[in-house]
Amino acid sequence: MVRTDRSPLPTRRRLFLHYGAVVSDFYCDEVLSGETQVEVVRETAAVLAYHHTRPFWPVHIVVIPKQHVPSLTDLGDAPAGLLAELLDVVRHVAGDVEAEHGAARVLTNLGEYQDSKHLHFHVNFGPARRGS
Ligand SMILES: [Zn+2]
Repeated sequence: MVRTDRSPLPTRRRLFLHYGAVVSDFYCDEVLSGETQVEVVRETAAVLAYHHTRPFWPVHIVVIPKQHVPSLTDLGDAPAGLLAELLDVVRHVAGDVEAEHGAARVLTNLGEYQDSKHLHFHVNFGPARRGS
């Protein structure tokens, strides 16, 4: 995309990156920036759902807001309605997994459990594939 105005580009939130070892916001840095290509499952104006690039479960879909939101308990500058739109996408994606496989899990990590500091829901089915 060619920008002709002089307004600043959005700041990429690469909080700390040591030669690929640690990316604290995979979603802004890799997915939303387009650095990592993803297979989209469902998309709205403000929300993206896609197949996890390194799935932990046989079915593993990640649902994220397209703008930076720190976590479920720290919504940051999220506008009114964003959480409802996000949960609506989670609801539909989980419903599709449940309908196809007969079961689904929905989870979001917080605090020390949250590796990537960008709100994301995991929608998954099946046994975990690897240890954390
Ligand atoms: Zn982010």
